[in-house]
Amino acid sequence: TLIVAVSLASLASLWADFMRATGSADRIFEILDREPEIPLTDGTTLERVDGHIRLEQVTFRYPTRPDVSALRQITLEIRPGEIVALVGPSGSGKSTLAALLPRFYDAQEGRIYLDGHNLTTLSPTWLRGRIGSVPQEPILFSRSIAENIAYGSETDDPAAIEAAARVANAHDFILHFPEGYQTEVGERGVRLSGGQKQRIAIARAVLKDPEILILDEATSALDAESEFLVKQALERLMKGRTTLIIAHRLSTVRDADRVVVLDGGRLAEMGSHEALMMRPNGVYRKLVERQFLAS
Ligand code: ADP
Ligand code: MG
Repeated sequence: TLIVAVSLASLASLWADFMRATGSADRIFEILDREPEIPLTDGTTLERVDGHIRLEQVTFRYPTRPDVSALRQITLEIRPGEIVALVGPSGSGKSTLAALLPRFYDAQEGRIYLDGHNLTTLSPTWLRGRIGSVPQEPILFSRSIAENIAYGSETDDPAAIEAAARVANAHDFILHFPEGYQTEVGERGVRLSGGQKQRIAIARAVLKDPEILILDEATSALDAESEFLVKQALERLMKGRTTLIIAHRLSTVRDADRVVVLDGGRLAEMGSHEALMMRPNGVYRKLVERQFLAS
């Protein structure tokens, strides 16, 4: 029973993490109550991954709401190493799009390819090992900081954990705790600030070293120092990895290679910040004017 409880707890945390990443933590339990729809280990694995993603005419409806298309005929290509900022009003389908890449759901219509391989032929477990995520509000387990960073990685080597924490600008604050990397976090341990939690989540992604990243930018303001350290850590993390970032800040959008704008489940616009601002009645321009995207 203990083992079952532990693995259920880590499954719950994994889902919690992802649902946080996609902004729907309140739906965790609804999902946990269901049988997984996609067998986790069925499918093939690839020898190497370049991180080329292609969506062709993808239409998706949630099984619980078959009457509404959360995504409609999305066609989109993301090149290896490209950073794509995903923006759009609330409910436009950003989190849903992000959930299709690790195959938390499969689309009813259309196809998604990774390096030319249809996702439905790939093992979800393997695929999720190739994708790193940094949620808006990362959930940490009531374990040591080191265990939290190593979660999801194949290694728990202390030197590798520390190296990842340095890249993530987390090493210094970790060393400020008397027990350093062995410091327990969560209910029985220390409380971390939002910016510190994000840097732990970034260290986790650095250690995992995936080819693909799904990032969800925090909407709540961090203090100025934390903001800078998180931004710098994210820049290091994104380097050389195919990145889909659900962006809430203008500065992030400006730094992206391309902006993809969703509206009502459709791909409404695509281009650079500058090009999108030129469109007089553009969805993107309206989002910026209404300060939907914070500076
Ligand atoms: P965004 O992330 O851009 O705010 P979402 O992808 O969360 O948008 O939502 C897109 C649409 O799908 C919305 O209409 C939303 O209500 C619906 N939706 C999101 N998650 C679920 C779910 N788990 N079950 C049913 N409908 C959902
Ligand atoms: Mg969302």
